[in-house]
Amino acid sequence: MLDPFGSEAKRLVKEEFGGINELLSIIPSYIGIEHALERVSWIKSGEIPEDILELSDIQDLLTFYALLGALAFSPYGIEMELVREANIKIYSERIRRASKIEGTAIPLKIVERDEIPNRDRTILERTHHTELPPSEREKLRLRYKTGLKKFLELWDGSLKEVYIRKGHAYLTGEQALKLWEEAFEKNFEKAVNLLYEIRDELSTYYLQLYEKLSEIAREYFKERLERMGSAEAQPLRFELFPPCVKIALGGVPAGLRNYAITVLLTSFLSYARLCPNPPRRDVRVRDCVQDLSVIEKEIFPIIIEAGNRCSPPLFEDQPHEIKNIWYHLGFGLTDKPTLEDSGNSTWYFPPNCSKIRANAPQLCKPDRHCRNIKNPLTYYLRRLYLENRKKGEREEGGGSG
Ligand code: SF4
Repeated sequence: MLDPFGSEAKRLVKEEFGGINELLSIIPSYIGIEHALERVSWIKSGEIPEDILELSDIQDLLTFYALLGALAFSPYGIEMELVREANIKIYSERIRRASKIEGTAIPLKIVERDEIPNRDRTILERTHHTELPPSEREKLRLRYKTGLKKFLELWDGSLKEVYIRKGHAYLTGEQALKLWEEAFEKNFEKAVNLLYEIRDELSTYYLQLYEKLSEIAREYFKERLERMGSAEAQPLRFELFPPCVKIALGGVPAGLRNYAITVLLTSFLSYARLCPNPPRRDVRVRDCVQDLSVIEKEIFPIIIEAGNRCSPPLFEDQPHEIKNIWYHLGFGLTDKPTLEDSGNSTWYFPPNCSKIRANAPQLCKPDRHCRNIKNPLTYYLRRLYLENRKKGEREEGGGSG
């Protein structure tokens, strides 16, 4: 298979398995955990095993989706980076070997010989440079074209490198592969975000697979982790917060106060700071910290200040709302909690974007990072992940590992 998000993969998921949920429910009976891990365990050696490159379409889909299911437990961690990197290499190699990119998730058409004016072709493909070996000439050949709109959505390279004519971008084989890579990343993220929504329904198989993935990722990114620390619980990065949380932090008018401060901010800040990637929904604060100092010294002051910025200030006319904050943190209705109290009520998870839009539409002012995001916490994790990835790649001079 050339692309797990291409038309053939979509058809198989729908017709052979009856949809993504059904596919995920049968994977544990067909694919052993070790078998799924073979898709990534070669990464340190840099050499993709031949049997991975030659997997049948169905086996390819099952092992790939097994890994996606595992990532639903912890999107935007080093595990996601490992799976992304290994699979981009696998599919790129298959596309190169097949010497075609048709049928992948990007709508590309083959360029007809007479479509490009000779004068342009001579310059771009250096047709008169007879000293160039045929393999070099082949690399310069403009083989594919795609509509400009789709192209601009995906391409993050320079536009100077690309021949654009009459609403189309014309691409060499390598440029088409680069465009495919961008599309893969987007589809990959989108799929992990969708599965994140249903992670509570996934079998424990995926959690076990996730734990094994984590071991491989820790080993592979060892140096980076030693240099930069892990992406788990760490001081809050306010500049990477989603717009809804920034609005809540700035204080809101009376009708929005309780939702913005008690429901959204309390859940967002506590999970983002204490347990950004909870392995299950019924996690308690005491599963994540040894004492309450981080809540009392870091999280509570931010909530109180945001409450004070509301008009009128939230805790002045509703002092009992403090108890409600502890309640939402899972300590029951109290204003003097101990760590042992955690679990007396549910530790509320940040509401999904759809809920925020329904209950407090004034808070949702999406920016470009909100695309495909279903929950404000994943927005934050995604931006942390991208920052760390950029930093890691810079320090490693563009490579990884
Ligand atoms: S899309 Fe989601 S994360 Fe973005 S502003 Fe709206 S609610 Fe917040």
